[in-house]
Amino acid sequence: MKLSTRVRDLTPSATLQAKADAERVRRSGIDVIDLGPGEPDFNTPGPIKDAAKRALDENFTHYVDTAGIPELRAGLADRYQRDFGTDYGPEEVMIGCGGKNVLFLLAQAAFEPGDRVGIFAPYWVSFPDQVRLAGAEPLFLPTREEDGFVARAEVLERALATEALRAVIFNSPCNPTGAVIPGEEIARFSELARKHDLLMVSDETYEFFHYGQGSFASFARETPRMREQLVIVGSFSKSYAMTGWRVGYALGPRSLIGAMIKIQSHDASHTASFSMKGAVAALQVPPSVLGSMREAYRRRRDLMVGELSRVEGIRCLRPEGAYYVFPNVSGFMKRFGFVNSVDLARGLLLGLGLATVPGSAFGAEGYLRMSYAVAETQIREGLRRLQECRNLPVPGEGR
Ligand code: PLP
Repeated sequence: MKLSTRVRDLTPSATLQAKADAERVRRSGIDVIDLGPGEPDFNTPGPIKDAAKRALDENFTHYVDTAGIPELRAGLADRYQRDFGTDYGPEEVMIGCGGKNVLFLLAQAAFEPGDRVGIFAPYWVSFPDQVRLAGAEPLFLPTREEDGFVARAEVLERALATEALRAVIFNSPCNPTGAVIPGEEIARFSELARKHDLLMVSDETYEFFHYGQGSFASFARETPRMREQLVIVGSFSKSYAMTGWRVGYALGPRSLIGAMIKIQSHDASHTASFSMKGAVAALQVPPSVLGSMREAYRRRRDLMVGELSRVEGIRCLRPEGAYYVFPNVSGFMKRFGFVNSVDLARGLLLGLGLATVPGSAFGAEGYLRMSYAVAETQIREGLRRLQECRNLPVPGEGR
């Protein structure tokens, strides 16, 4: 079959691939501890499910507005005004089929051949491919492990001295590192965006899962200074344990939001009508619901970081947000004779029944991503296997 050039260089999502690999090994009879998943192990809270069930019973099952149902767009505009002091109106909000789809629509609407788009590494797997699918080119901007993998404005400024960029994609809290960009750094980015006329895309999918002091530093706070150059992307998937519902959103300049809606009108049309009714109810769940999930994640993070520190050859920071750790495993790789993180992840899966995602999928060799959105018993057992590991199947050793 002749496929488009566009798709030929595209690799399938490494995180979804890791999930499929773990499933395959589990089906072969191995007891797998899966630290790969990028989704909460909690169930969607009851009031959200009730709202969707009600919508179905009331036959809210037809096509709705391509931009998303008005009450959800208005509800999000209100929420951002309340939490971050923004003045977005409902027409500056669009709803898509999850944050991933919203980012895809955004890339299609804003980027074109000849554009370069800055992406801080380690990065979420879909950013570079979405940029490439729009015909543009990613420019990777480094972060440093010693600096907690925080995206720094000085790195962007240095890049801008030699490169013209159309946009920069930020992700705080970050998947895979858990790094959170502090408010002062966001102000510096905002200044650079104004000076260099950059579009700033801020993916804040994990906004509710940050464990540092004070409230979450959203790019939304910069809207008085860079309203026309900023798009905030969010999702109900992680915050409200609604991954399968497929509801994500963007807030931004009316022209860009309008363009994304226009593309959606020729694509999915909109996400499921009753999923959006559930999302409206999600905006009303008491903060304690999110708070209890956050506290559970914080405990699990501490458990995971503590247990990892007892594995010879692994060094792990205590991330400030999301629900992933991104340990440096270069010493561990050397110990067992692995030359890359893909082989190591495969070795751990086949040798220990431990599923992780290789760092190279996120643009960082010598690391693994492990999720703590799993039960504490699973974390303990997975890490015990790692601590007691004495032998692993290395490719090329005939095993
Ligand atoms: N952005 C980041 C950084 C993510 O990690 C994910 C999911 O893993 C998404 C966006 C998209 O999530 P969804 O499409 O479920 O809203």
